[in-house]
Amino acid sequence: MPRTLITGGAGFLGSHLCDRLIEEGHSVVCMDNLITGDTENIEHLFELGQDRFRFVEYDVTDYLHVGGELDYVLHFASPAAPDDYLQYPIQTLKVGALGTHKALGLAKAKDARLLLASTSEVYGDPLVHPQPEDYWGNVNPIGERGVYDEAKRFGEALAMAYHRYHGVETRIARIFNTYGPRMRVDDGRALPTFMGQALRGEPLTVYGDGSQTRAFCYVDDLVEGLYRLLMSDWAEPVNLGNPDEITIKEFAEEIIEVTGSDSDITYEPLPEDDPQVRQPDISRAKEVLGWAPEVDRREGLERTLEYFKAELKCRPKRNDR
Ligand code: NAD
Ligand code: UDP
Repeated sequence: MPRTLITGGAGFLGSHLCDRLIEEGHSVVCMDNLITGDTENIEHLFELGQDRFRFVEYDVTDYLHVGGELDYVLHFASPAAPDDYLQYPIQTLKVGALGTHKALGLAKAKDARLLLASTSEVYGDPLVHPQPEDYWGNVNPIGERGVYDEAKRFGEALAMAYHRYHGVETRIARIFNTYGPRMRVDDGRALPTFMGQALRGEPLTVYGDGSQTRAFCYVDDLVEGLYRLLMSDWAEPVNLGNPDEITIKEFAEEIIEVTGSDSDITYEPLPEDDPQVRQPDISRAKEVLGWAPEVDRREGLERTLEYFKAELKCRPKRNDR
């Protein structure tokens, strides 16, 4: 049975990866300090027993020790929503830099393959559109978002260095905006914010004039791409995302429609360095992994809506928490 460590495993993507690797027959060690994650996302796995699934509450910027053999390390620990990394700027830099260093050191010691969760944010506010992997990006290193973007860029550089100089098997996923069940309803990202507002009948807060674009990928598609990348022999970065691009204003309108809400839209100032466009070029993922997303946005939003309705019943309002 392969044994796999997932850092950030109690978060949105990490918990879906725990599920997938358990399904694939792995024994999973999930490590998380719960800064933005929640054990609710993984508690259904506790009944499997320690041989199959073990949760360790730990900050991965500290020295990493895992007893026994490891075949894979999936490094997903990091605040990921803009509101989160603006609230935890130093922790974000530390987990992207020191945490990635510790995870790579552990992978080297255990002769394990490491998959790094990188991001479309390495392209910053891109001047090339859509973004292929060989575009180097346009990042403001000292802007507020720089804490996330630069930590991820450093993480990629470190992974490539461990690959080249220590021969560690590394995989780098540049993940584009992903959504689905287990997103925190109050994480401040566009989808949870809009869905919560629409379900409560409040106005949807579009930043700027809403002409900025994003391309949203449903979580099941992303997990399939990540699994294929993990099992591939491709060490250079691979974009994983859904190329179906939409403006944020249209996205807000679509969420009003899907939820059947009568909410309006209000406009608020655009945050600093908010990328004006973003869309993955997934030619490499298609060629190397034979992967492309299959769930269209309408279907993905409907599936996500069921989760949000249930969550909002238990936790009615952001400010009440
Ligand atoms: P998330 O906040 O739900 O999950 C991140 C997890 O990491 C949380 O459970 C958090 O508690 C944990 N964590 C943070 N710092 C830690 C530390 N020092 N030690 C141990 N655990 C720590 O976010 P997510 O959306 O699931 O993102 C997961 C990963 O994927 C992140 O690395 C993120 O940068 C990357 N990513 C996500 C997206 C997306 O659209 N969701 C896009 C690009 C990249
Ligand atoms: N956004 C918005 N209203 C909100 C939250 C986000 O208009 O309440 C915008 C945000 O400025 C960005 C886009 O929606 O242009 C996507 O934001 P998100 O935080 O989901 O992810 P990002 O792609 O910026 O990391």
